[in-house]
This record gives sequence, structure tokens and C-alpha cells, in this order.
Amino acid sequence: MKRILVTGGSGFLGSHFCERLLNEGNEVISLDNYFTGEKRNIVHLMDNPYFEVVRHDVTMPFFIEVDEIYNLACPASPVHYQYNPIKTVKTSVMGAINMLGLAKRIKARILQASTSEVYGDPEVHPQKENYWGHVNPIGKRSCYDEGKRVAETLFVNYHEQNNVRIKIARIFNTYGPRMHPHDGRVVSNFIVQALKGENITVYGNGEQTRSFQYVDDLIEGVIRLMNSREDFLGPVNIGNPGEFTIMELAEKVINMTGSKSKIIFEPLPEDDPLQRKPDISLAKEELKWEPKIPLDEGLKKTITYFDNLLSNS
Ligand code: NAD
Ligand code: UDP
Repeated sequence: MKRILVTGGSGFLGSHFCERLLNEGNEVISLDNYFTGEKRNIVHLMDNPYFEVVRHDVTMPFFIEVDEIYNLACPASPVHYQYNPIKTVKTSVMGAINMLGLAKRIKARILQASTSEVYGDPEVHPQKENYWGHVNPIGKRSCYDEGKRVAETLFVNYHEQNNVRIKIARIFNTYGPRMHPHDGRVVSNFIVQALKGENITVYGNGEQTRSFQYVDDLIEGVIRLMNSREDFLGPVNIGNPGEFTIMELAEKVINMTGSKSKIIFEPLPEDDPLQRKPDISLAKEELKWEPKIPLDEGLKKTITYFDNLLSNS
């Protein structure tokens, strides 16, 4: 049994990590300030005596004895990370410093939930880990993108200077049950709009692409990375290479929900990347991992989740 700290443990991804790590027989501590996370996501785990919940902000130091740290604390949806951009930078940067300092002191393995956003609006397609990215340092998305880029820098620096045992996962767009219904991300927005019969809001002309990964695939890939050989640090792309336009996604959601919703067009947000698709050859080779759940199957499960959520609220 390992003792594992999950920062951002009550968020969308964090709650799935807590659940999976507990099911594997570990002791798990969720640390969260509940900015975008919710107790609802972890309430079903609370009866487990090997699960602990801490309300704390990662921008402040925190001390605990654990074997592993999954550092996920950070709002991930553009609406939320742009709400207080200075706090977003602090969460990524000071959060990384505090968690890396802890990992150094207690000699824990620490994994950073980085993002495909480090590639910005990419000029290389698909994106490989050796692409340095195309990020606007002063745009609306920069608090998140640059914060995550500095966090990667800190992880590598703590490893090289202090021998901290690090892993870096670059996560591509992930969706599934427990996404916040109002967090503004495209999959949750479209499903909630379709189920309520509201207009489906496509930003821009809908020709921009994303590659959508179902949450279970992500969890498997990231846990394999945490347990990979000591000298494999990443960064490694964890994503589904299936690439869809936003218009294709809108049409799929309408068909799958049988909704009468109409598609409407709204302005494209500033610096919205035109395309995104991971090259996952490194993950395949090093982690023997690739995603298994196609978009239609994952959307079906996610639609069922939101349908239940909306009928019970
Ligand atoms: P989320 O917003 O659901 O979860 C983030 C969690 O972190 C929330 O529970 C929130 O309350 C908590 N948090 C935020 N600021 C905090 C702070 N200062 N102190 C303590 N807790 C704080 O988002 P998610 O989709 O679950 O993303 C989790 C991580 O994965 C994030 O770091 C995100 O950048 C990364 N990621 C997610 C995706 C994706 O598609 N979901 C893609 C790339 C990277
Ligand atoms: N998007 C959209 N309608 C929405 C929400 C998002 O057309 O209601 C678009 C958004 O402009 C972007 C894509 O969908 O091109 C993915 O957006 P999301 O916020 O989910 O993730 P990110 O842009 O961070 O990849």
C-alpha cells in the first residue's frame, strides 16, 4: 500500500484519480481549495477509511508524509482560469514550488499534470514532445499556458538540481463524467445545451480541431507514467489522436442525444488554437499505452452522466 497525495483531488480528473488509486489498495489524500472542484465528486469515497480530504490552497506550503504526489491543482477550463489570471499563475507556479519542495524533503515521486496548451496555437501538426510551442505570452490564455510551462521548467530544475523524482504528463483535451456542467468546456457545454434543448454555441466557424480523450484512458496512461522506470521523466503526451472539428462534435452530440437544439455561431475567443492532435508514439513505446475508448462510446457514457445529473437537480 502506498500513501498518495492528489492535489486538485475534488476536481474532474482528480476525483477519478482518487477513486482509481483507492481501488488499487492505496491510501489517498485529496487536497483541494474547491475553486472548481466539488465535494459531490468525491462524496462516494468518503466512507473509505483509507481516504482523507484536506481543504488547502497549493499556493501555501503544505507538509505531509507520502510516497507519491499527483499535482493536478489548477483550474483547467478557459472560463475558470481567466476569471482570476494572477491566481492561475500563482496556482501553477507557487503550487509547483510548494509541491516540489515537499517532494524533495520527503523523497516522494511527483507527477505534474501539464497540458497540450504548452504547444499554444501549434505550427507543427500533430504535436510531438520535442516541439517547443507557439504561445502568446501576454494573451488571454497565457496565465494558464505560461504558468504550466514554468511549472514544467521547475519540475526539470528540481530534478537536475535536487534529484527530485519527477514525471511530466502533457494531457490533451479530456472529457467524461464529473466535468463541471457549467465550466464552459466544449464537450460539457454541448451535451448540457443539447439535453436542455438550448442552442449549441459553436465559437468561430467550427472548423478548429481538437482530439478528445475519454477520462478512463487518461487515468490509465498517467498512472502508467507515474509507475514507469525511474529515469523516464517525460514530458509525454497523453491524448487520443482521433481529431474532430468542433462542428463535427456539435453534430455528433445532437444526433446522439436526439436533441432539437440548433447550432448557432459565436465569436472565436482570443488565441483559440486552430488545431490540436497528439503524436503518442512516445507513450506507446515507453508506457505501452494507447487510448482504447472511441469518441462515440465515451460521449455515450458522458451523456448518460449529464442526463442523470440534470434530472436530479
Ligand atoms: P478541474 O477544474 O475540474 O480540477 C482542478 C481542481 O484543482 C479543482 O478541484 C480545483 O478546486 C482545484 N484547485 C484549483 N486551484 C487550486 C489551488 N490554488 N489550491 C488547491 N486546489 C486548487 O480541472 P481538471 O480537468 O480536473 O484538470 C485537472 C488538472 O489536469 C489541471 O492541472 C489541468 O491543468 C490538467 N489538465 C486537464 C485537461 C483536461 O482536458 N481536463 C487537459 C490538460 C491538462
Ligand atoms: N468551443 C465552442 N463552443 C463552446 C465551448 C468551446 O465552440 O461552447 C470551442 C472553443 O472555442 C475551442 C474548442 O471548442 O475551439 C475547445 O474548447 P475548450 O474550452 O473545451 O478547450 P481548449 O480550447 O482549452 O482546448
